Amino acid sequence: MVNTVREGTDHALIFEKNRVKTFKNWPHKTGKISKENMAKAGWFKCLPESADDAVECFCCLKQMEGWSSNDDPWKEHLDHSPDCEFAKTGVEERKLTLLQFIKIVEKRSTNLIEKKFEEEQQKEIEHLKSLNVYQFLG
Ligand SMILES: [Zn+2]
Repeated sequence: MVNTVREGTDHALIFEKNRVKTFKNWPHKTGKISKENMAKAGWFKCLPESADDAVECFCCLKQMEGWSSNDDPWKEHLDHSPDCEFAKTGVEERKLTLLQFIKIVEKRSTNLIEKKFEEEQQKEIEHLKSLNVYQFLG
């Protein structure tokens, strides 16, 4: 489980040029998983700025780590998150149509709301557990 501290809710991360800037201390300097290629494929680096390689997608919010130099950031993205609106396009930001871009940003909003909802739901379940409500369910 990846520990996210950098907030996926930061709207600046929608843009590739801002995602590139998050790759401080990125351990993979060359090849397909250079920071530029990672940012192109939708990833930004999770905090803290340690030498680990945990990343998150700005659109589907999928988190991944443990990259190897032969990995293809687009292929890994699609393999692990086949419904990602951005990864499905398979093209970097500057090649997106306006309509594709709007759909991606809309889907990102939905994903953020669903994630928030699930977090709140989990908190509520923990709260109910702490009240011992479930003992009445048998
Ligand atoms: Zn994604």
